[in-house]
Amino acid sequence: MAEPFQLKHETFFDIQMKSDVAHNPVVAGFSTRHGGFSDKPFQSLNLGLHVNDNPNDVVRNRIKLAEALGTTLDQWVFAEQVHGKEIQKVSAGDRGKGSTIMKTGMIGKDGLYTKDRDTVLALAFADCVPVFFSAPGHSIVGIVHAGWKGSVLGIARDMVELWKQDEGIPVEDIKVWIGPSIQQCCYEVDERVISNVDKVADSRYSPYTRKDSEDKFMLSLQRLNQQLILQTGIPEKNIQVSDHCTSCEVSTFFSHRKEKGQTGRMLGFIKLL
Ligand SMILES: [Zn+2]
Repeated sequence: MAEPFQLKHETFFDIQMKSDVAHNPVVAGFSTRHGGFSDKPFQSLNLGLHVNDNPNDVVRNRIKLAEALGTTLDQWVFAEQVHGKEIQKVSAGDRGKGSTIMKTGMIGKDGLYTKDRDTVLALAFADCVPVFFSAPGHSIVGIVHAGWKGSVLGIARDMVELWKQDEGIPVEDIKVWIGPSIQQCCYEVDERVISNVDKVADSRYSPYTRKDSEDKFMLSLQRLNQQLILQTGIPEKNIQVSDHCTSCEVSTFFSHRKEKGQTGRMLGFIKLL
């Protein structure tokens, strides 16, 4: 499968949505660490307000990305993320929330969706999995933040369930993109994580491998999320997965694991045109 995330600008990767464009124009993608104003260890396009970077630099960085996408920052909606499973429906009236001060954002939410145009949904990442949702013809977009906890809690599956139940959208119409994140090559976890994964994963297609002679495992959060999303009945062909590894590609992305917690944040973003 062709890589769905392609570098469009110094500051971001664009999701290649191809045939969907005629039905339901969507702008979506994932930022890089380049083209910003932040100093070490946030060099340079840190977009997270919660990592002790200079907030003025972070806001300048956000404005730069917003402008690169042909938007203004006051159209953007952010969340204060907690590695949970709460999803918030956002409207045009929420625009600007969390854009310059985190506590004005959607508190305690790790998933956002909207049916309103020109309302940019944004979540912050540094290894965790960004999952993007669109349903061509139904004017709806969404995004979730899934680290191992959110993945196990099924936040990505829950977005599809919400769209089915609350919005009346058939699963066949829902498309999903699993974005750049730490991949199985670099994501070592311990028994505690794996015991939680085992409760929800399909044992026939285990999303992890055990390391030789160690109580350590290499986990694919991409495969875990894909499995849980498939439980909704969504066709497999509707799910696309990025091969970009934020840890391997630390010259392009921030990686919490690779940089031992001292690093910035990328944004995953999506909006209806
Ligand atoms: Zn890797």
